[in-house]
Parts: sequence; structure tokens; C-alpha cells
Amino acid sequence: MEVTRSGSERPLLEADELYRFYHAGRDETFALRGVSLTVGAGEMIAVSGPSGSGKSTLLSCLAGLDEPDGGHVSVDGEWITRQSETERCAIRARSIGMLLQTGSLLEPLTVLDNIRVAQKIIGQKDNGSALELLHAMGLNDHRDAVPSSLSGGERARAGLAVALANDPRVVLADEPTGELDTSNEDVVLGLLHDLAVQGSAVVVVTHSKRVTEQCDRVIELLDGRVVS
Ligand code: ADP
Ligand code: MG
Repeated sequence: MEVTRSGSERPLLEADELYRFYHAGRDETFALRGVSLTVGAGEMIAVSGPSGSGKSTLLSCLAGLDEPDGGHVSVDGEWITRQSETERCAIRARSIGMLLQTGSLLEPLTVLDNIRVAQKIIGQKDNGSALELLHAMGLNDHRDAVPSSLSGGERARAGLAVALANDPRVVLADEPTGELDTSNEDVVLGLLHDLAVQGSAVVVVTHSKRVTEQCDRVIELLDGRVVS
């Protein structure tokens, strides 16, 4: 937890009563029904629950990629909800690293260039940090490889390197180990755990009991509500 100047503790990531509804004709889906959570610096929490329970919607709202219909999200004390698109992007670039379920690597680019592009987008000069990230992820030998030539574990680590390109304080990962064998799952999990130890707030959506056991807390979703 961070201690603010007033001496009170402020969570790095806070969601207050999030609601998200989808409409298609007369069909209404209640994806989130009043979900609240707080994650402090140094904490790693898991979000679990059956398919369709609202996990990805929650993560999108936390990242400001989606706007909740009710409630709000603040990142390091700053509202990301109901801000302009530009402001949301700026906050995301400054503070949030996101690892998407679908992967976030650009196929025509090498692993190193994927990281550099992510840094360019946020206006951060590459001062060797891209190479440091590759080293930390154990990808030194793959810096010039394109994503499709990597194994599943290597791709997951490359995706993590891109997510961490802006040195974010909040890391959001949607099933980052979903398609990995246990040894690669352990590597990715270890890297996420290190980030928390270094003071980030980490949220991992996962079905894996091995992953939830490594987290400080587990938030269980069912039909868009927190059940435990
Ligand atoms: P999970 O990640 O837990 O599988 P999601 O957050 O993807 O769940 O979805 C929660 C519910 O919201 C599901 O019923 C899903 O069909 C619905 N949903 C998610 N995104 C959309 C969308 N863009 N349009 C309509 N329904 C959606
Ligand atoms: Mg999902």
C-alpha cells in the first residue's frame, strides 16, 4: 500500500460498484452487477469464475478499454472512467500494462521491435530498456524472431515484455497462462509475482488453481457478481 501525504493508504487500483450491461434487440446481458475491488501496491490478486461470468469485461473496464454503465475505476488515485478517450489512453500508457487473452504481438515485427513500438506509442525513448526486458523474460536469443516462429511459452513471455514496455504500476493479465504447460505457466507466474514484489498491483484472470494459489487473494465472479 502506498502512503499518501495525508498519511492515508491509497490503493493503486480501485473499482467501485461497476455495472456493465449489453443489449442486443430485446436481449439484455448483465455482464457486471456491482463489482468492487481494490488492489494495493505489491499485491497480486486472481479473478476467477466460469466462462461468461464477466472476467474479461471487468478487466476491460479496469483498463479503461471499456466504459462501465455505472460505477468508476481509479488508477493511482486518478479516475479513468468517464474521461475522454485521449485521457484514458494517456492514463493507460502511463500506468497500465495489459496482457490480452488474444495476444498483443504484431506479427510482421520482431520481438524487439514489438517492444520498441509499444514504447514509441507512449513516447518513451528506448534507452536500452527494451533489451533489459528481453533479458528479464529470457528472450535474448529470440529478439529478432517474429511471433509466429516462437513457442507458446516464448510468445507469452514476449507478450508480457510488450505489456511491461512502459514500466506500468498496474498490470492486468487475462488468462496469461491459459494455453501454457505447467513449466511455462510457472515462468510467467514467477515474472508476474516479481512485478508485485517490486511494488506493482497485479490482477490475473485465471482458471488455474496453480495460479490462484500463488495470489494474495482470489475474487470469484459468478453472473457478474463477486461471490467470494
Ligand atoms: P468471461 O471473461 O468471464 O468469460 P465476459 O466478460 O467475456 O466473461 O462476458 C460476460 C458476459 O457478457 C457474457 O454473457 C458475454 O456473452 C457478454 N458480453 C461480453 N462482451 C460483450 C459484447 N461486446 N456484447 C454483448 N455481450 C457481451
Ligand atoms: Mg474472458
